[in-house]
Amino acid sequence: MMKKATTKKDVMYTVDLTKIDGDGAFPCPKCGAIISPDDESEEVYTILETKVKGDKLAELILMCKKCGSKIRLVGFLQQPKV
Ligand SMILES: [Zn+2]
Repeated sequence: MMKKATTKKDVMYTVDLTKIDGDGAFPCPKCGAIISPDDESEEVYTILETKVKGDKLAELILMCKKCGSKIRLVGFLQQPKV
């Protein structure tokens, strides 16, 4: 995955859950730490922001605790939560 280099310190990665196989876990785009939306221990990541459309989760902004990257998770609406 190639991203344009930027001089801004706040780089935001976007991860589309509909493009992820399995249980929705994905490696951090920067450092490779495995981030699982179902992991609520907040050991690997912390949730910064939750965006809801109607009563459904639309977007989640996470921060990887390993490298500090901000990651925008999209695609919840196509993937019903169990
Ligand atoms: Zn990371």
